[in-house]
Amino acid sequence: MSTIKQYIGRFAPSPSGPLHFGSLVAALGSYLQAKAKQGTWLVRMEDLDPPREMPGAADDILRTLEAYGLEWDGGIMYQSQRHDAYQAQIESWLDHQQAYYCQCTRKQIKQAGGYYPGTCRDKQLDSAGNAIRLKVDAPVLAFDDLLHGHISIPAPLAEEDFIIRRRDGLFAYNLAVVLDDIEQGITEVVRGADLIEPTGRQIGLYRLLGQPEVNYLHLPLAVTENGNKLSKQNHAPAIDKADPRPALIEAIRFLGMQPPVDLASSSTRDILLWGIAHWQLSNLPQTTAITLAPSHPSHG
Ligand code: GLU
Repeated sequence: MSTIKQYIGRFAPSPSGPLHFGSLVAALGSYLQAKAKQGTWLVRMEDLDPPREMPGAADDILRTLEAYGLEWDGGIMYQSQRHDAYQAQIESWLDHQQAYYCQCTRKQIKQAGGYYPGTCRDKQLDSAGNAIRLKVDAPVLAFDDLLHGHISIPAPLAEEDFIIRRRDGLFAYNLAVVLDDIEQGITEVVRGADLIEPTGRQIGLYRLLGQPEVNYLHLPLAVTENGNKLSKQNHAPAIDKADPRPALIEAIRFLGMQPPVDLASSSTRDILLWGIAHWQLSNLPQTTAITLAPSHPSHG
């Protein structure tokens, strides 16, 4: 008899500012996909990078999710409380020569063509002020996305030894996200298409750790009029906590559904129930042009 694994999904905001329409789409899409599968939906606060955080944003995000009726299951995981787990994994890789210290600057890597060429792999550098990179011995050259289909990853990107702890001592996003998704038992990752790029690295980490891999669904990205991703960095406006219905309806439309006009005057709960009943991956617009380029500074 085969056992069907219970679906566990998540929304993992970084508290660098209040929720904007782009992050509402990621929250709602991951929520609807989990609930349509009778699954669990967790929230994890990715407070990994204090200099980029805004005081009070983590609580503000949670209050906003509540105002939108997006109730999460279980407790919130905070990455700021997970440092021991990240550090223990890094030490084990250092002990097994699977990771190494690197002193190269971003400028040097840019000059070398944008991809890190493994300069410090065999230098046996010590920790002083240096970043830590993972040796990528088995690059992940492709993966399947539930919306975008088969995605090929250019070899120089796939083969790059990537940073798992930054020179300023902060843990890298790719490491934290995979260790946390494993710890929380996540079976499917639903998030914005801007995170397609690091996905190959994350799959590589699952394989290195001998863990079962997860499904990926990268949602279409909300962009500004001039084509930039809506983000806290480009000051996307916060969504309204006092009257959540218009933004909720707009997010439902953005995800390819066509709600009846009178749904806008229903409760957030009824709007979400309508969304769960009408959620279908085949409705999602596949608008994102996928270009995989050298590491994104925050997600490298
Ligand atoms: N914390 C990331 C962000 O807000 C999302 C991470 C993820 O969903 O894997 O961009």
